[in-house]
Amino acid sequence: MGFSYSVIPILKKSRALHRAEFGCLKKAFALNVTLGCGFACVYCYARGYAISPPKGIVYLYQNLPELIQKESRLLPRGTPILFNTASECFQLHPDILDVTYRTMAILLHRGFNIGFLTKGVVPEGFKRLFSRHVNQLQATIDVVSLNEDYCRLFEPAAPSGLARIEGAMRLCKWGLKPRARIDPLIPFYSDTEESFKPLLKAIKECGIKEVILNYLQLRPRIIERLQKELPSLVSKLILSCFPKESWDTVGSKTLSRLIPLPMRKRGYENIKKQAEKLGLKVIVCRCKNPDLDFTDACLPRWFKLEKPKKIYQPRLFEN
Ligand code: SF4
Repeated sequence: MGFSYSVIPILKKSRALHRAEFGCLKKAFALNVTLGCGFACVYCYARGYAISPPKGIVYLYQNLPELIQKESRLLPRGTPILFNTASECFQLHPDILDVTYRTMAILLHRGFNIGFLTKGVVPEGFKRLFSRHVNQLQATIDVVSLNEDYCRLFEPAAPSGLARIEGAMRLCKWGLKPRARIDPLIPFYSDTEESFKPLLKAIKECGIKEVILNYLQLRPRIIERLQKELPSLVSKLILSCFPKESWDTVGSKTLSRLIPLPMRKRGYENIKKQAEKLGLKVIVCRCKNPDLDFTDACLPRWFKLEKPKKIYQPRLFEN
């Protein structure tokens, strides 16, 4: 199979598990299987990080399973561990999937709870592992539109929206209860009735019961990329929805620019109304919409950290 990106195996030298740094996920542990992501979504904030490789290059942490073997011994069973805070563990390359599988298998067998948000498709090879640990898994499928033009423009190398829905249907058959995340909603492209109506119908029909919504937020590097990778008229139209010049701190230390509240509110309400007609529960992401009054936390059902603990190195001789 050909790939539009090169996967370069590297050894991760630093810790694999780190505290999640965003909003209500703070204090969970998080990990990434790769540095960089071949899906190359134009709005991806992680592509703007100083350490991110250029488009088309993905570094794979090939020693991740060994690191996880060691580091997970120092955490209590049941600790929530989140995949994909800055990359994607279900990129299609077999070496990436192999590291993902081995890492998840260690964590699940040791009794950890795993959450992942993916724009990928979980392959059939994960069926046995996932079916045995359904109660420890929270899958969230990020799918913004079924429209192929949208996918080509904004998520050029990711599986199509339809493929992700089919993947979610398979997870439901395995006994998981995946959720859908429609994020980022892009004004004029994915917040229109023509876009969200068929998407919500497909989400409902595949067996998903809960949908999380969030609109696009800008960061300086995202603006640059929209201007560089989208046709000029498209990027101008999108950027015109962010009239405010100043930056806000939203959910993390990073500065962001939000779509004006009335426009976001109207968009969420339209989608919510349609989703609720279909019997879907809707959550508008609280961390990314701190100025809205009908938001909620979208944490996995098992996500609670009664006593957040530090990863510590045990001493050779304890007193
Ligand atoms: S799938 Fe996620 S990590 Fe990968 S490019 Fe898209 S937004 Fe970024």
